[in-house]
Amino acid sequence: MRFRSLFRKYLARPIQTICAAGLLAIPSTNASAQNLIRDAELEHSLSQLARPILSAAGLSPSRVKIMVLNDRSLNAFIIDTRHIFIHSGLITRMEDPSMLQAVIAHEAAHIANGHISRRLANMRSARTAAGFGALLSAVVAITSSPEAAGGIIAGTAGSAQRVLFAHTRGEESSADQSGARFMSNAGVDPEAMVRVLELLHGQEVLSAGRQDPYARTHPLSADRRRQVRGYAAAYGGGGEISASSQYWFDRTRAKLSSFTGNSRQTLRRLRSLRGNNVTETVLLQRAIAFHRQANTDKAIENINALINARPNDPYYHELKGQVLLESRDTAGAVRSYRRAAEILPDQPLILAGYGRALLAADTQNSLQEAKRVLERAYSRDARQPRMLRDLAVVYSKTGNLGLASLVTAERFALSGNMRNAKIHAQRASDQLPRGSQGWNRAQDMLRTTE
Ligand SMILES: [Zn+2]
Repeated sequence: MRFRSLFRKYLARPIQTICAAGLLAIPSTNASAQNLIRDAELEHSLSQLARPILSAAGLSPSRVKIMVLNDRSLNAFIIDTRHIFIHSGLITRMEDPSMLQAVIAHEAAHIANGHISRRLANMRSARTAAGFGALLSAVVAITSSPEAAGGIIAGTAGSAQRVLFAHTRGEESSADQSGARFMSNAGVDPEAMVRVLELLHGQEVLSAGRQDPYARTHPLSADRRRQVRGYAAAYGGGGEISASSQYWFDRTRAKLSSFTGNSRQTLRRLRSLRGNNVTETVLLQRAIAFHRQANTDKAIENINALINARPNDPYYHELKGQVLLESRDTAGAVRSYRRAAEILPDQPLILAGYGRALLAADTQNSLQEAKRVLERAYSRDARQPRMLRDLAVVYSKTGNLGLASLVTAERFALSGNMRNAKIHAQRASDQLPRGSQGWNRAQDMLRTTE
């Protein structure tokens, strides 16, 4: 399979997946460490913004997930029909919700118009954690490598690379037109798409090495900008930004900026705000910034104010659980996560946090409960390295060494480290009863890592 040789060629740098959990230990962002940010609140906020656009595109909002890579450069891309990836750098440059929705509309159009299915027809499935990790790692390695990307633009790159990762001008034009139509049908003014392209325009003139990856994966041109202005005029008019879109956009930005920004500066900027100026997003940013400064009391004070404002918001209870867990208040963390999981019983990232807190409590009962909760998290979304690590600990503490090896193999595969994945998958295969469900999963892993 041509993907395999591509994968081997570019996979010197494994992708790291992090969750916004672990706010105190944020890896620095640089070109070589591409980080997938897994955070329930962030993903929910983005899904609220994407929902009307995806529906207008005829895609199921519950099937297509928006995921964020912690990367300051500008890019958005798809790897299959179920995921849209957006760099944090692009989100923070968007001035209002409709610009972010324009980016989503364009990617949704690439999916809806079948621009991915042809290329990826022969590629391994992204549905397993291992397949997902391998595919994403390869895309990130290639689009973030100036050398490979330069080759794509100059047309000297291998044809496999070119067709896999760069859209043609024809596809861009089709995605722009459909995207503008989706926006209009969703009640969002497609004029925002013009503003996104103007913002990206400056990138077009940079040399390939300094360009943002967006310009590599989605060719920009004067023609394209002219056409988009035409679509915006044709489909535009009306479309006030709804209060709901503004709310979820503000929440997305607040979570992302407090996660990736400088917490000292955040606190200085928000210090003087009083009364009505202390909005939910201000409280949220303060809570996370105080937590990152290891000021637990102040963090909890702000989170309690959020919970008072929205007692049934699962993400605020989850945040409280996380802050308490990272401040060594295990019993308090279990209570808060349990509350979050009561409100939203099937959210895999919340379940993972709940399981982590139960594991930290470290009693015989809590260990059994942690196993049950983490297995539920796993069955709903296995693409969480931290959860896979916790589940491996639970399995080894409860004597399931074969299963511990299996989920460890999956964790390595998710980060693109196929060598270690294979070692642990082999160990799992040797330890698990032949023909059992776990043994079969180990055989799948061994095939994936071949
Ligand atoms: Zn495109």
